[in-house]
Amino acid sequence: MEVDKDGMWVEVERGVWMPDLAAIVLARLRQNKPITTNYDTAELGKVLVRQLEEPRNGPTGSLRLSSAGKCQRALAYDYHHYKPNGFVPDESSPIVFAVGDIIEMLMVAALHDATDHINTITISNTGLAQERVCLEIPLSDDRTAKVAGHPDGTMQLPLYRGDLGEFAMVDAILEIKSMSDYGFKRFRQNGLSPEDLYNYQTQAYQMAKTQMTGKEYNWTYVLALGKNVTVKDGIVREDGSWAKASPIVGHWVKGDAIVKDQIVTRLREVIESQSPEEIAKPFKPSTAKATKGQLRFPCDWCSHWKTCWPSAYEEPSSSGFYQKSTKIKLFVGE
Ligand code: SF4
Repeated sequence: MEVDKDGMWVEVERGVWMPDLAAIVLARLRQNKPITTNYDTAELGKVLVRQLEEPRNGPTGSLRLSSAGKCQRALAYDYHHYKPNGFVPDESSPIVFAVGDIIEMLMVAALHDATDHINTITISNTGLAQERVCLEIPLSDDRTAKVAGHPDGTMQLPLYRGDLGEFAMVDAILEIKSMSDYGFKRFRQNGLSPEDLYNYQTQAYQMAKTQMTGKEYNWTYVLALGKNVTVKDGIVREDGSWAKASPIVGHWVKGDAIVKDQIVTRLREVIESQSPEEIAKPFKPSTAKATKGQLRFPCDWCSHWKTCWPSAYEEPSSSGFYQKSTKIKLFVGE
């Protein structure tokens, strides 16, 4: 095994290199050739139809690892069986989710096809074979609660330590995301920030897999597609040079002990609460002159905003000059 530092490896921290899975997927997407991996194409159809069958609002009373970073009060509304009373998904939701699922399946197929013949990289539990993982949360009275989740995949692959000149095999999580323009640009430049919801999600999966297997899961590869990136998009670097913008970007995310502790504390506090009102609202209406009273993300996408902010109301608001857009915004009354 050799580390080609200009190609399919990326430096994840000083002197430490891991496979660059985005580069591997992009290289496979540039090739048009028959797929050689043993891939079940019928899965694609099942994934599409699933969006017509699944209930829009999942069951109340449960917590999920994918929501580990969600507003803690919103988690408590879910956990205490409050009926959704706020943002309501519409007919576009199954289409948006189906497109996201298909993107994930295509990236998974490309990743498998490009790596299945490499005996040092093993990618498992992808697509419809995703694994259900559980994180045990210790409670104050010595009981434990279990919170479940479904990582997009698990992996075993090499890590190279340049200072020692040594390879080690590591266990890791795979996450695949379709990102909006704003989120993708931030991700492309800086990866996930500690407070990013995806960071909470993937740190929770790392903890669950470590607990379940006794092996150390301390790395996640987040592979992202920018939904709005076109073939004509470019980026200008700080030094003035420019390049074509890649529609697919990935970052290795290392385990973060602080975030992992926060996840356990947040979930335990929700499980041990008697009511959502025990948990203070972490968000406030804007006080800026132009947006006074406005409640932004995540409140305007929260399925409990009418319960949480009884005086809040929606109204359309237009912005932009050359390309005007009108969005429904959320405000809190006097
Ligand atoms: S409306 Fe905002 S503060 Fe209230 S539960 Fe939802 S996200 Fe949290």
